[in-house]
Amino acid sequence: MPRPKKKRSVQRPPLFSEFKPTGVRASELQPLELALDEFEAIRLADFLGMDHAESAEHMDISRSTFSRLVEKARHKIGQFLTEGRHLRIEGGDIHFQKNLIRCQRCGHMFNMTFDTDLNQCPNCGSSNLIDLAGGYGHGNCCQRHHNRHRR
Ligand SMILES: [Zn+2]
Ligand SMILES: [Zn+2]
Repeated sequence: MPRPKKKRSVQRPPLFSEFKPTGVRASELQPLELALDEFEAIRLADFLGMDHAESAEHMDISRSTFSRLVEKARHKIGQFLTEGRHLRIEGGDIHFQKNLIRCQRCGHMFNMTFDTDLNQCPNCGSSNLIDLAGGYGHGNCCQRHHNRHRR
């Protein structure tokens, strides 16, 4: 039996999950999917400027796996900019380390661990909160993943 693919570690959910050229309807554009692990590779190597060894450690994968991952991700960013695609960040064999909560009323963002509950915005008291990890279909799974690895 093949071993189950190891989950890759992504620090926290991306702030935005969809991108497209302005002035063109999404339905007229060819979709392009950037997996969450590909997004994280771009964030670590190209946004933060980390080298591949350090980035690989952050994602809990080998250096060679990271190098392949970031190449694939860069190709997609190239396609997005050159061809004008409808880019969506979704999927990937990952769990988040931390969650992000956004208040819909005041726009405040809160870094959260998965074992804390937040029902009200500490800034304005609104209960209209968006759970970013939840939007990507994550939450309890990430919490369980961390508990298993902490021991
Ligand atoms: Zn608020
Ligand atoms: Zn998860």
